[in-house]
Amino acid sequence: MDFRFTDDQRALQDVVRRFVEKEMPKDRVAEWDKNEEFPKDLLDKMADIGLMGATIPEEYGGTGGGAMEEVIVLEELSRHSSTVALAYGLDVCFGAVTLERHGTEEQRREFLPKLASGQCHFALSMTEPDGGTDILGSTKTVAREDGDYFVINGSKVYTTGINIASHVFVVVRTEKDPNKPSHGLTVFLLPKDTPGIKYSKIVKMGSKFLHSYEVAYQDVRVHKSTMIGKHNKGWHAVLDTLNNERIFIAAVCCGLGRGAFEDANQYALDRTAFGRPIGQFQAVQHQLADTLVELDLAQLSTYKAAWLQDEKLEGSVQAASAKYYASEAAFRATDRGMRVLAGSGFTMEYHMQRYYRDVRQLIFAPVTNEMSKNFIAQVGCGLPKSY
Ligand SMILES: Cc1cc2nc3c(=O)[nH]c(=O)nc-3n(C[C@H](O)[C@H](O)[C@H](O)COP(=O)(O)OP(=O)(O)OC[C@H]3O[C@@H](n4cnc5c(N)ncnc54)[C@H](O)[C@@H]3O)c2cc1C
Repeated sequence: MDFRFTDDQRALQDVVRRFVEKEMPKDRVAEWDKNEEFPKDLLDKMADIGLMGATIPEEYGGTGGGAMEEVIVLEELSRHSSTVALAYGLDVCFGAVTLERHGTEEQRREFLPKLASGQCHFALSMTEPDGGTDILGSTKTVAREDGDYFVINGSKVYTTGINIASHVFVVVRTEKDPNKPSHGLTVFLLPKDTPGIKYSKIVKMGSKFLHSYEVAYQDVRVHKSTMIGKHNKGWHAVLDTLNNERIFIAAVCCGLGRGAFEDANQYALDRTAFGRPIGQFQAVQHQLADTLVELDLAQLSTYKAAWLQDEKLEGSVQAASAKYYASEAAFRATDRGMRVLAGSGFTMEYHMQRYYRDVRQLIFAPVTNEMSKNFIAQVGCGLPKSY
């Protein structure tokens, strides 16, 4: 088994590292967080050095990388800001994968080159007020067929980044069969300024500069050609992108945890008590050692999930395990970081509080760790479905 990256992967990692140091030093990220404003030109700068196209096939303007390249970019971005990584992931990990797998050739030719060059950005509007876990039960937004058009009515919550997106993927119900709830969902990709779409900001505790919104769809008229995948078979398109989405979040968690660890480790070397660095006390050392071990395991699990996807091998349990384990490991890394920094960690002067706030959502979004464990129990352990 060879754990080394290829030369190209090492070069990619190096490019992203240099980009992160130059364009998103931690103090600048803290400013974005404080002002709650996304630096939109950041995505353009990523496009300029080829990052937006890192996983898009060459024939559509990208550099043709796979899940491993996606993981490398996300980990490096997240060491300084998981929020930037989430914005990147909405475009590159969610949008590009959905279009590649379920878009028509015309849609791929229209959107993927623009995505690679930073000319279009996506948001996902799936979760509804009645709950994100039971998507099939809670999706009440409907689309009624009207000639060559559909007319969408309903409301969504937590649609993230719609303010900076050019387009939004909307998951709606086009048919209702009480005996088969997975039938009858359809996905549309609309320009976000389509008449009838209104959104209002949700105030959150973390990822403060990538806003999430409640979105109202009122008589939104969309042409049939904006449909992604097949009519009434949207659930298939949603499920098909889930593995990649789990790997995406696992990689974000690995990077976020690493960033928190690095700050805590440095603090343990710099801060003194009783005439010596606090990093000399075993109680502090063990916290940092636990974090390092757990982040290493999270990374191995995430890399294996990415490798399985790139090799086109079955990896759904591995992807769910990586998301579950990496998010819990990152959460513990930030919690231990807060303990090591103590009072300093609680002030806005240090970055630890941001890691601590930002990691919270990754425990339950885009899928809760309880649902990840349900899936691992059902598919991995072969136990009966629990819900
Ligand atoms: C910051 C943020 C950004 C987001 N971005 C987006 C986005 O861009 N687009 C989008 O569509 N959505 C987005 N979401 C929504 C996100 O995917 C949901 O929050 C998530 O799916 C959980 O849904 P919920 O919050 O409604 O919790 P609920 O579904 O109400 O769940 C509540 C609790 O019940 C538990 N539970 C429910 N059913 C079971 C069961 N069968 N077994 C065990 N436990 C169960 C859950 O695990 C959880 O602990 C975002 C959310 C947040 C907070």
